[in-house]
Amino acid sequence: MIIVLKPDATEKQIRHIQERIKKLGLKTMVSKGIERTIIGVIGEEDILRVQPLEAIEGVEKVMPVLKPYKLASREFKRESSIIDISGVRIGGEEVVVMAGPCAVESLDQLKRIAKLVKKSGAKILRGGAFKPRTSPYSFQGLGEEGLKYLKEVSKETGLPVVTEVMDPRKVKLVDEYADAFQIGARNMQNFDLLKEVGKTKKPVILKRGMSATIKELLMSAEYILSGGNFNVILCERGIRTFEEATRNTLDLSAIPVIKKLSHLPVIVDPSHATGKWEFVSSMAAAAVACGCDGLLIEVHYKPEEALSDGIQSLKPDKFDELMSTLRKVSRAIGRNI
Ligand code: PEP
Ligand code: MN
Repeated sequence: MIIVLKPDATEKQIRHIQERIKKLGLKTMVSKGIERTIIGVIGEEDILRVQPLEAIEGVEKVMPVLKPYKLASREFKRESSIIDISGVRIGGEEVVVMAGPCAVESLDQLKRIAKLVKKSGAKILRGGAFKPRTSPYSFQGLGEEGLKYLKEVSKETGLPVVTEVMDPRKVKLVDEYADAFQIGARNMQNFDLLKEVGKTKKPVILKRGMSATIKELLMSAEYILSGGNFNVILCERGIRTFEEATRNTLDLSAIPVIKKLSHLPVIVDPSHATGKWEFVSSMAAAAVACGCDGLLIEVHYKPEEALSDGIQSLKPDKFDELMSTLRKVSRAIGRNI
């Protein structure tokens, strides 16, 4: 249920409506748009159907939200959200490129890659300290040591850092080091993890599960939003289909579809979507043309020695070339990089 307020509704009236709803055992979330303020009601809202809420001063209309996600929906917030990752804005005119190695392997490796991607125009450094590997025998990441390197390199380069958190018990730790959390495809429906990051104020990049529908992705976002953290960025990273030529199938249509359904920014990860470096650049350009708000790209100066995802990592010169292509594509659609 959403309550659309009159354009001249006062703060006092807003508080009054919130208190009324709270007394009924429900939670409210206020969205102040340019033209209208909307109050989203969450919880078992059947009780509201018999309450004459439209009689309360300041209320223009009460509308049921038929979709199962409410706070993530365009109905709740008409204007697109802009999420700020330590000064870098995602969801505005600029298309933000986040790049780095799949895994943090050493301080030197991270520093070297961070400097290279920054020089080419990346605005955010990404690298995993906790790695969700299919095999327990594969490199699992450096853990807290990796987080320390991320912080150090962030200080030195001025690039904010994004890193994955896999365990609800590690949210506090990762929060101390990172500028934004990444929730990986395999954890998109780890509801305890979603609830835990929902308690923080830090931006969360939520990746689409490899077999998840767009609706399920938005329901997972709803977990974070309903916890009070509105700083959610959605990431399309390819879904599993019958096709075997690529690691996953990049669902480019997810970009306009999500933009229609939700106010949250959408970024694309062409590295995990294709799984092969030679297909990354064309899919990155296509994603920008389709209106994504940012990209996540894996870069390594020696892919053949990378401890994870070397096959899909771009070498720095290829990344640099890609950045010039992306500048042209973004200019053509009235955006910039
Ligand atoms: C990653 O970003 O390194 C990663 C493991 O991605 P995904 O969760 O999309 O597989
Ligand atoms: Mn990876």
